[in-house]
Amino acid sequence: MKEATRIIRSTLTDPVPGQPLHPGPVFAAPFHVAGDPGATRYTYGRSHNPTWTALERAIGLLEVDREPAADVRCFASGMAAVAAVFGATLRAGDTVVLAAGMYFAARQLLEEVFVPTGVRIRTVPAAELTQPAAVAGVRLVWLETPSNPELEITQIAAVCRAAHQAGALVACDNTTSTPLGQRPLELGADLSVCSDSKAMSGGSDVVIGHVATRDAELLTRVDRQRTLVGGIAGPMEAWLLLRSLATLSLRLTQSSANALALARFLSEREEVSRVLYPGLKTHAGHEVAAAQMRYFGPVLSFTLRDQTAAETFLNAAELITQATSFGGVATTAERRARWGHDEIAPGFIRLSAGCEDAEDLLEDCRRALEAIA
Ligand code: PLP
Repeated sequence: MKEATRIIRSTLTDPVPGQPLHPGPVFAAPFHVAGDPGATRYTYGRSHNPTWTALERAIGLLEVDREPAADVRCFASGMAAVAAVFGATLRAGDTVVLAAGMYFAARQLLEEVFVPTGVRIRTVPAAELTQPAAVAGVRLVWLETPSNPELEITQIAAVCRAAHQAGALVACDNTTSTPLGQRPLELGADLSVCSDSKAMSGGSDVVIGHVATRDAELLTRVDRQRTLVGGIAGPMEAWLLLRSLATLSLRLTQSSANALALARFLSEREEVSRVLYPGLKTHAGHEVAAAQMRYFGPVLSFTLRDQTAAETFLNAAELITQATSFGGVATTAERRARWGHDEIAPGFIRLSAGCEDAEDLLEDCRRALEAIA
């Protein structure tokens, strides 16, 4: 079965005459349980929920090339999923190694919550994560490729080989790509983490995340993090995500094609000093990306002269909604330096291509660039 068919089938439940094709979310705190709780699959809504089960099954299939599916736990947000991985793997005295350009909030979580408990952070350039010296003595290698916002590419399989030789675990934040775009578990990662608030859901209307693994012991530890910390996904969000997965293949095909068209167009414009998109042959990580990704994804970044030029561009564009985050069906962009989290130029724009017609987007960009004096 081809990918698009497999994904759509995975979101369906077994047909029951007279019942809807897509049964609604199950809202429950306690479930009816008499006697031995072990005899019932669902007891309390912080531990399990049938809507999660359906969603986790579908994502588990998405995370692998072929069955058996990976085990998945959905969480209240991408950050709750990230926190569960850190909580499940890191103890006092452990070292976690990170690439320098990783998503800022995951770094802040480590610095503000885990370092005070005795966890140590080692930061290296992403390209060095494949070096034995970078991973020696480390408990966890935290990977993010393409990274947000600079879209650096790291070779997942090579990092996993180096890390495993050193006895370290590898977790990959797969948010910018999604498990349809690239499959960290198939490339050797122990844990695949994703903020499903972005391209996985695509509607820009839910905050949710997940962790996937094939390791039973890691799964148990991640599951305990969810049940004990309580960072659980709401049934409505889980249901919305399950419903959205059926269109993931369509959305990612269109948004990746639009992102490439925009990246090529911007590369030829004199107002733009640098375009970062792994689908461009000029991107430093293009060959690795082409080998490990099946879609280059919706996110690209480019740099205009300065803050004023970037703001003028964003204000002049009519089809680019100014917003943070990425992966929605509508094209969005922001001047990333306005947050102050990353070491990037004041004119750096991160753009998330949506699913509109490419010609309209190119024309809008042309007009917006012309507004820059
Ligand atoms: N990881 C990456 C790479 C992200 O970009 C984000 C959010 O922007 C997250 C994790 C956190 O996800 P959430 O906002 O769903 O908590």
